[in-house]
Amino acid sequence: MKQTDKTCEVEKRPLKLVFGITYKCNIKCRHCCADNGDIQVPDPLHTDLLRWLNCLPRERVEMVCFGGGEPFLKYHDLIEYCKILKEKSISAATLTNGFWGKNKEHAVNMLQKIDGLKSIFISVDQFHQESISDEVIENSIDAVLKTGKYLLLKSTHISSEDKKNQQRKYAKYFPRVMTVSSRLMTAGAAGALSVEKFTLKNNPEQFGKDCTIGDLFVNHTGGVYLCCPTANQGKDSLNPFYLGNIDEDGWDTIFQNAGKNRILSSVLKRGPIFLVDLFKETPYYDELLNVEFYSECDMCYHLFKDEDKVSILNKYLKSNMNTKTETMGI
Ligand code: SF4
Ligand code: SF4
Repeated sequence: MKQTDKTCEVEKRPLKLVFGITYKCNIKCRHCCADNGDIQVPDPLHTDLLRWLNCLPRERVEMVCFGGGEPFLKYHDLIEYCKILKEKSISAATLTNGFWGKNKEHAVNMLQKIDGLKSIFISVDQFHQESISDEVIENSIDAVLKTGKYLLLKSTHISSEDKKNQQRKYAKYFPRVMTVSSRLMTAGAAGALSVEKFTLKNNPEQFGKDCTIGDLFVNHTGGVYLCCPTANQGKDSLNPFYLGNIDEDGWDTIFQNAGKNRILSSVLKRGPIFLVDLFKETPYYDELLNVEFYSECDMCYHLFKDEDKVSILNKYLKSNMNTKTETMGI
């Protein structure tokens, strides 16, 4: 298939959006990448979120997921957001730590009142369960299933053994409930954890084949990025993963920018290893093969630390497509 055909697919296909509706949380996980110590990111204004959701173009959006922080701390706002999406026939989802499952009956009533909320992603792993008991999570799972919503259990693992333990623990819910596990991102509080890392030179098989690029993340000012980890990384004007601001540019421009963004189309096709391969003809390639990281997103954090590497990404974004397509072997 030609490069242009694949780019067209991204231009037309509906994308997922993730809104961080609050950065506050009722617990403090040791691995939380939203916990930046003393630096407090303000929550988006409720009125801004209502405006951004109300003007969403339905045909360009596959799903909206509300994340945080803990979105259920904004329960009444969540009801309003899901109502808007229901009126637009856009599927709504939320990520949560499931703390609201202390009383099963109350949890069922609470979920039933969020009309339009189709899917719930509950975080379950060794870190979350230091604060939320297994019993509370079991109640939350039962409540979600009772209300007929789609349920996905999301965990973060620090080793393949850890991943297997999580899968074993929740196997009894399969196939009614799916589980998905991703590697720890050593950002925020997780930066202080001691985890085994790898290099691309010694263990290339550890590097994942895909990532969450394309789940467009909306920050508290209405800035939209290709994925959550690349939001708020330095100046937006220099960030190759920045697509625009909802109030300043509008959704149509943001979706057009996503459709034209060569990093998005290339990583969707080749996986995050594409970002490393971009540096093959540069003096940084050897460094990228030897730097230790725990996940694919860690590699992107590494790129963002260096203005020169970011400018190489920006040059790729702006370069002539046909010439570069041959050079990159896409
Ligand atoms: S539940 Fe999520 S947002 Fe809250 S502390 Fe844990 S990882 Fe962070
Ligand atoms: S690997 Fe990079 S591009 Fe992919 S989701 Fe992580 S930060 Fe985004």
